[in-house]
Amino acid sequence: KWAKFPYLKTLKEFDLSEQTSLSQRQLNQLEELNWMEKQFNLILLGPPGSGKTHLSISLGIEAIQRGFQVMFVTMGELINLLKSREFTRKSQVLLNRIESSDLVIIDDLMYMAMDQREANLFFHLINHLYERSSIVLTSNKSPDEWGELLGDDGITTAILDRLLHRVEIIHLNEDSYRMKHRQSMF
Ligand code: ADP
Ligand code: MG
Repeated sequence: KWAKFPYLKTLKEFDLSEQTSLSQRQLNQLEELNWMEKQFNLILLGPPGSGKTHLSISLGIEAIQRGFQVMFVTMGELINLLKSREFTRKSQVLLNRIESSDLVIIDDLMYMAMDQREANLFFHLINHLYERSSIVLTSNKSPDEWGELLGDDGITTAILDRLLHRVEIIHLNEDSYRMKHRQSMF
């Protein structure tokens, strides 16, 4: 239920031969969703085209099939929702769903720098979800670079504290699947 995935791709469509950094065993473990039952978070790191969004969607689909409530948002959308919560009914509805989901997928975490207010709003959401839901974050920057984008040091530490307390970090490969499989006109 819910979710709002940008596209639909399953775990079966996720080709591991391109991913030396992720084993079949690890993928099976992710598919079993034990990490969700234990309220673990997942951080998917890798450059553009490395399969972060695909993998997050696949796991989201898996979770829905098991009866979990799942929401998918990009970081940009999430910040806009948080900022318009007081004024927009639609934002309220979507944020209520996010806050009551078993799994929240936040795609492209550090795409943009946040100001103090945005970092604060984000912190409050993470704090609400902490130990209540699982969060899947995708980012092309590693957590030690997130500080720069979140601005305020205290907030960064507080957010990282919660996100990294129970987390599995997966690094997807450098070589872009999209580039290798790109179609040529000629
Ligand atoms: P990003 O890491 O930028 O989020 P995506 O997950 O959106 O990249 O992947 C870009 C495209 O390449 C998508 O169409 C996705 O399905 C495909 N893709 C990436 N990695 C794989 C993979 N390991 N197996 C199959 N398709 C992949
Ligand atoms: Mg992506």
